Amino acid sequence: MNDLQKRTWAEISLPNIRHNYEAIRAGLPAGCRFLGVVKADAYGHGAVAVSRLLQEAGADYLAVSCLDEALELRENGISMPILILGHTPPEYTEMLLEKHITQTVSALAKAREYSEAAGKLGGKLKIHIKLDTGMSRLGFLCAGSYFEKGVENLLETVALPNLEIEGVYTHFAVSDEPGEDCEAYTRAQFKLFTDVIEAVERRGGMRFPIRHCANSGAVVSFPEMALDMVRPGLLLYGYGDAGGRLGLRPCMRLVTTVSTIKYYEPGTSVSYGRRFTTGRRTRMGVLGIGYADGLPRLCSNKVSFAVPGGFALQRGSICMDMCMVDLTDLPDTHVGSEVEIFGPANDLCALSDAAQTIPYELLCAVSKRVPRVYAE
Ligand SMILES: *Cc1c(COP(=O)(O)O)cnc(C)c1O
Repeated sequence: MNDLQKRTWAEISLPNIRHNYEAIRAGLPAGCRFLGVVKADAYGHGAVAVSRLLQEAGADYLAVSCLDEALELRENGISMPILILGHTPPEYTEMLLEKHITQTVSALAKAREYSEAAGKLGGKLKIHIKLDTGMSRLGFLCAGSYFEKGVENLLETVALPNLEIEGVYTHFAVSDEPGEDCEAYTRAQFKLFTDVIEAVERRGGMRFPIRHCANSGAVVSFPEMALDMVRPGLLLYGYGDAGGRLGLRPCMRLVTTVSTIKYYEPGTSVSYGRRFTTGRRTRMGVLGIGYADGLPRLCSNKVSFAVPGGFALQRGSICMDMCMVDLTDLPDTHVGSEVEIFGPANDLCALSDAAQTIPYELLCAVSKRVPRVYAE
């Protein structure tokens, strides 16, 4: 990065991602595969860089949310298996076949369309079937009164001529939340998942080669649910409550710099809406980061950032491209000083709590204006 442009950047530690990958991998049962979730530009860390690392480190699978994300990886030399978690219109079957991309299939009608399209192209589309065991999002309905119908639809799907059924999976709704109710819900989802698989395998006389359900929450709290492959995202990036407990390392550090420092008399209002007024003579720094970079405006007046010599309270409304911090008691912070918005010195969760959201959203929110700088 050109030093003259030093405004705001995200330092990504590839060694920390590698460390996290190896630490998670070390806790898996023998033979369990590892799928790294790199959707949403690898939670803001850069999908190509993270995928290259995972490919080299020996991960088994990658997952993205849509075809464009998968193509970006293929165009950048990623040759390992890639699963699309979301929907791809069947018109794109040719592209999926040509680029060797695995598609999620979440309903019988779609399975038929993919099979028909693949047949016309003389190919067989590799798919993973998704079951809706309680997330109520994508997936074959199979809970409660839908069990029998679900199994029938799955039997019809696995018998379609032009699909290669490589895997079956489901997604947990509360595997990362504490409490007995949540634990019971996750266990019920898991039981339904394995019951449906058992019924389809028995009645269809087939086997699903890869059964998977463990997202980060389950990898941490329900290791017995690893089955044939785990599917962590957040954990790989070292964030979330469990990350620290497992000795995982945060991989992104969002950094900005002090552009200007000014002194204000007591009673001076600061920023749009005049939502902060100085109560004393104040040494106020202007930072080159705002909500267009991914710092939520909802954090205004509620957070502090790590600066040389301590933590600076953010003051006044966060603007699109700037925000202000009180540096009165921080004489070691000067124009040009680095300010850590989140990272090892300043917990992302404090920021996500202030923004009434979860760490996931803030990682994804770091916008494309913010250059990623990779530490090897
Ligand atoms: C995003 C996603 C994951 C990863 O979730 P984490 O909580 O980040 O581990 C796993 N599976 C599916 C289907 C997802 O959409």
